[in-house]
Amino acid sequence: MIVANRIIYLDNAATTKVNPEVLDSFNKTKNLYFANPGSIHIPGQEASRLLEKAREQILNTLGVRDHELVFTSGATEANNLAIKGYALKHQNRGKHLITTNIEHPAVLEAFKQLEQYFGLEVTYLPVNKNGVVDVNDLKAAIRKDTILVSIMAVNNEVGSINPLHEIANLLKSYPLIAFHSDVTQGLGKIELPYNELDMFSFSGHKIHGLNSSGALIKRKKIELLPLLSGGGQENNLRSGTNDVALAVSLAKAIRLENSKIRENYVKISEIAAFLKNYIASRNDLYELNSFDNPYIINFSTLTKKASVVVEALSSRGIMVSSVSACHAKEEPISYVVKALGKSDNLAHNTVRVSLSYENSLDEIKEFISVLENIIKELK
Ligand code: PMP
Repeated sequence: MIVANRIIYLDNAATTKVNPEVLDSFNKTKNLYFANPGSIHIPGQEASRLLEKAREQILNTLGVRDHELVFTSGATEANNLAIKGYALKHQNRGKHLITTNIEHPAVLEAFKQLEQYFGLEVTYLPVNKNGVVDVNDLKAAIRKDTILVSIMAVNNEVGSINPLHEIANLLKSYPLIAFHSDVTQGLGKIELPYNELDMFSFSGHKIHGLNSSGALIKRKKIELLPLLSGGGQENNLRSGTNDVALAVSLAKAIRLENSKIRENYVKISEIAAFLKNYIASRNDLYELNSFDNPYIINFSTLTKKASVVVEALSSRGIMVSSVSACHAKEEPISYVVKALGKSDNLAHNTVRVSLSYENSLDEIKEFISVLENIIKELK
C-alpha cells in the first residue's frame, strides 16, 4: 500500500480527500451531539437544533429561497428520490420523462427501472461532440404528457457543462414539468443557477466532505413519493435516524468549497491548461475528449491500452481513472465518450484526470513525464 502522502492523487471526480476542518466538525459533533435528534430529551433537542441549523446553512450558502433540503446518503439516493419519487407520485399527470444519454448510472438506472417496472416512457437526449445537450432537442422531445426533465450539470467522465439556465428558461413555459439536475460534479466548482432548478442532488465526498453525506434540495411545493418509509424523518421524505454530525460536516464542506469557487477555478484552470496543451501537442498519442471544464480532463490513448496505462501510473504512485470508477469493473467501454460520437476504440481507452485545489502544477508536470515514459516502455 502506497502511503497517502506520497501519491499524486488525480482522481478527485471519484472522491476527494476529506478537508481536515470538515473532519474536525464531524468529530466534535459526533462526540458532543450523539443523541437521536428525534428524542424529546434535552440532548435530543440540541441535536435536532444542530441538524436544522446545518440544513439552513446549506440552503443559505446556495442562496435558494423557495427550497427545502432532504439529507440523504449521497447523490445516488438523492437522484433516486428525485426521479422515482417524482415520477411515481405524479404518474396520473403523465407518463413521459426526459433525460440524457450521458447521465451517471445513479440517474440512468433509476429511469430504466421506471421504464421496465412501471411502464413509464423515457426519452434519452443525445449530446453534441462536446458532451452538451442542445436545448432545441429538449424542446422537440417535450410531449403533452411529459412530467419530468433530469439533466446533469457537469458530466462526471468528460466534465462537459450543460446549459442549465437556458434549459430552465425553456421549461418556464411548461409549468407542469419538474426540472431536476444532478449537480454532483458542479457543486462548489462552478457557479450554478440553483434557484432556477426544481430539484438538485449532490454528494459530500466530491467536495472534500465525508462519504455517505449528501442531499436532495427541492422546491417546497414539489411533492415526492418517499422511497424509505418509517419514522417520518426529513419531513416524511426520508425515514431513518439522521446522522447530525454528517449533516454538520456537509454544511461545512459546502461553505468552505463555495467560498473559494473563483480562487480554486483560477488555480485549477492554469494546471488544466498545461495538461491540455501537452495532450493536444501529442495528437500522435492521445485524443482529448473534454473541453470547457478545468476540473475534469479526459483523453483517449491512441497507441496503448488505457487500462494498462492507468495501472502502470498507479504502480508509480499516480492515481487517475479509466472510464469511471463508479462502474469500471462492469463496463470497460465509456458510454459517455461513445455518446460524443467517438469510435469504440477511443471509448475503450479513456483516461480521466480529475483535479482539486490540492493539486499543483508540479504534480501535473510529474504526471506528464511519468505518462510519457510509460507510453514509451509499454509494448
Ligand atoms: N452523480 C454523479 C455525476 C457522480 O459523479 C456520482 C459519483 N460518481 C454520483 C452521482 C453518485 O454519487 P454517490 O456515489 O456519492 O452516491
